[in-house]
Amino acid sequence: MTFVMSKEDLRSWLGQLMEERTLIAPTSTDGLILFQQIARVEEVVLDFDNTVLPPKGCFFPATETLFTVQREDGRINLIPSVVARETVLFGLRPCDANGIALLDKPFLAEPSDTLYQQHRDKTILVGLSCNKVSPECFCTSVGGAPNDSSHLDILLTKIEEGCIIQAITERGKALLPLKQAPQTEAQPPSPPCPEVVPVAGALEVIRQVFGDTYWSRLADRCIHCNLCAYVCPTCYCFDVRDYEDGGRIERVRTWESCQSPGFTRIAGGYDPRSSGGARLRQRFYHKLLYFAEQFGAISCVGCGRCVKFCPVNIDIREVVRDIQSLGVKGGA
Ligand code: SF4
Ligand code: SF4
Repeated sequence: MTFVMSKEDLRSWLGQLMEERTLIAPTSTDGLILFQQIARVEEVVLDFDNTVLPPKGCFFPATETLFTVQREDGRINLIPSVVARETVLFGLRPCDANGIALLDKPFLAEPSDTLYQQHRDKTILVGLSCNKVSPECFCTSVGGAPNDSSHLDILLTKIEEGCIIQAITERGKALLPLKQAPQTEAQPPSPPCPEVVPVAGALEVIRQVFGDTYWSRLADRCIHCNLCAYVCPTCYCFDVRDYEDGGRIERVRTWESCQSPGFTRIAGGYDPRSSGGARLRQRFYHKLLYFAEQFGAISCVGCGRCVKFCPVNIDIREVVRDIQSLGVKGGA
């Protein structure tokens, strides 16, 4: 089902959505485009490359209380956190919707993460096609596309007079204002073409370069800032801590990164990935090999955020090319 919606009708539809649900959409804060809860429709930004942070925080927040333990009248109560309100996540790019589908694999595998499951069940995904590509994007090299609707409920494509709206799922269809939007035969414009990166070629030889000194040389540049993990829509390392306050204990989950020194340290002090090279190699091997072995898909959607934000220019596209050429040399 495809509709054209004018800019005015789009604003009024968003206003209606906000009356009954939480609306999260791209906004501009001090020049940064960020997903935030919308208080006024005017805050929603439609003209942007991509948000600084991916929308994974809507399902796997940077910090979240999993449950609270409270002592009351001599009894100990465990109170699980609950997601109560329906949310519309508006304006996410197709690569980020693919990122959410990849996060589903570990979080929803049995036994599933109940809080993540609640966030997913309560959230409708309204995507926005890319009408231009950033220099860092390479979604088509990892199975995506600037107009990919695979993991969305609704897909919007901006045109001169407003938006072409495609209802992808029944859930998405039910969200649309049927009276306002005339059905159309109009086809969305052709999507732009992102850079091609030889991911398939690198995957063929990745096992051969595991022991190469390449990883420790590359890691000499890494400052372990964890930015690559925090801006990545598919990274999901976390830490869990308990905070006590007057007899009440909260168990809190926070984002972590396999790049953190000590992330894999175990009881007794041994750390199987104590060197920077081993940690950096783990990042790329997990994305390109281990995740795929476990879940059937590589764990990168080609959003380019890690390329853009790494302060020392460690570039996954360059790493993929290096893996390919080192593997070819080693195999010759
Ligand atoms: S590894 Fe980099 S390019 Fe791939 S999904 Fe994560 S942030 Fe995006
Ligand atoms: S963003 Fe760059 S410097 Fe920071 S941890 Fe990742 S690879 Fe290392």
